[in-house]
Amino acid sequence: MDHQALAQLLFPQVTDTPEDLEARFPPRALPEGAVVTRMAPSPTGFVHLGNLVQGLTAERMAHQSGGILFLRVEDTDAKREVPGAVEVLIDTLKHYGIQFDEGAAIDGDNGMYGPYRQRQRAGIYHVYAKKLVSEGQAYPCFCTEEELAAMRAQQEANKETTGYYGKYALWRDRSLEDVRAQLDAGSPWVLRFRSTGSIENQFKFDDLVKGKLTITENDMDHVLLKSDGIPTYHFAHAVDDHLMRTTHVVRGDEWLATLPFHIQLFKALGFKLPKYVHIGPLMKMDGTSKRKLSKRKDPELALTYYKSEGFPVEAVYEYIMTLLNSNFEDWRRANADLPASAFKFSPKKLNPAGSLFDYAKLTDVSKNVIAKMDAEKVYTLLSQWAAEFDPDFGAKLAADPDYAKRILAIGRGGKKPRKDLAVWKDAKAYMGFFYEEYLQAPRFDPAFDQSVIADVLNRFLETFDLSDDASTWFEKVKKITQDIGFTTDMKAYKADPAAFPGTVADVSTFLRLAVTGQTNSPDLYTVMQILGKERTESRIRAALSQL
Ligand code: GLU
Repeated sequence: MDHQALAQLLFPQVTDTPEDLEARFPPRALPEGAVVTRMAPSPTGFVHLGNLVQGLTAERMAHQSGGILFLRVEDTDAKREVPGAVEVLIDTLKHYGIQFDEGAAIDGDNGMYGPYRQRQRAGIYHVYAKKLVSEGQAYPCFCTEEELAAMRAQQEANKETTGYYGKYALWRDRSLEDVRAQLDAGSPWVLRFRSTGSIENQFKFDDLVKGKLTITENDMDHVLLKSDGIPTYHFAHAVDDHLMRTTHVVRGDEWLATLPFHIQLFKALGFKLPKYVHIGPLMKMDGTSKRKLSKRKDPELALTYYKSEGFPVEAVYEYIMTLLNSNFEDWRRANADLPASAFKFSPKKLNPAGSLFDYAKLTDVSKNVIAKMDAEKVYTLLSQWAAEFDPDFGAKLAADPDYAKRILAIGRGGKKPRKDLAVWKDAKAYMGFFYEEYLQAPRFDPAFDQSVIADVLNRFLETFDLSDDASTWFEKVKKITQDIGFTTDMKAYKADPAAFPGTVADVSTFLRLAVTGQTNSPDLYTVMQILGKERTESRIRAALSQL
């Protein structure tokens, strides 16, 4: 077979050579050890936690080493593509602090190693396709769907491995005349790799997450170009990662199955093999067993979920860090005030079997993250969330920012800040009572006589003075307690509850219910300070009128 003639027959339009491309995309001038890596998603419109785990791993590896992170859009499967998906992806990742140095961008592409969208790179793939054919490393296959299905059925019946290999590789050694005849007849063809591997052979391979692997050689003549001339993922990623000078491929471990083929391809193409970082899937507990997070069953897989629930970006980021690097939490305890980006991330610490996602833990991390924010920041983030997901609440926050910030400042700062909020969605239940429309009518404990409650509220109104400091205010509450025959001595009460009609805690609860409509609230003195004299008094009067 004259391979040169075959190459010319299949790719007459290709005039560039691999050397031309090498010159066009020269090695990057980066310092020793700089990691060049990428995210290479398919634009399906669904951005999930797995993308973030991968993105973050890639981003940390690149930027910690003074390298480059770029975005390549793998849009070779036009059927799966959703319009606007690239924009959604870029926006979402940016929202989580993953910024690309180059690659596909909202307003086109930027960088010297593009185009960064695979469909625009067809001409580049064809240069290497032609090279492989001219070297006898690839060949056209004219098998129809029916022939392939029949072959498969026969292999299944014989209990053989299914696929296009060995004696089943029907077009492997056909003559130039046969090929020409098919081309003249206009028959569609795919380009296949001529595998020289054998499943009898194994070799060692080092993955940065999985460690040492024993790999069995690939013996399948896999497809490189589909019948429309568009490459498969396998071929495209080899060409792209080489020409874009990728040093590390960070991707999901579902690609391990085809890694033997990828290694073979890099070799056949004369490319240096990048390092591989194969990340395990995100798992969750389902009853007593672990399973992969699923798009269908688990809403928490989608990144949009975290936005609509109102998890601050920083919280999700911190949580992913704790998930990926078990030493992150210790580091965080020792470095409470540093940004998470100061942590030395290591892909070697990733769990090879995949990480276990724990919603309760995420909530906990988020509480800590929010507790550390100042009121100004909480106000900004909460307002942004509410404007989109609870516009009515958002309008209230926007109508009087100072009022909202005073509310949000309660319990902030200091050594032990309050941890009331895990997500912005919780905020309305926590602070809604500050707004008249969300205030609920108090429901007093029927164990107490209504006249006693009314007595407490009336006495409070008589002595209430907004300018009192906290201790004077509390002394007044204690005095009311004693005047109505309740006790302020909680120890004595605990020892013999039957001896007292009630305590200072009950009196506080009457007041709290009257003012907030709830039995739980932040510090009542502070609440009254923020509500002001008029609002506090009118609420107490309204409660009285319902008794
Ligand atoms: N397009 C592939 C995917 O979305 C990319 C895998 C890779 O990063 O190489 O799974």
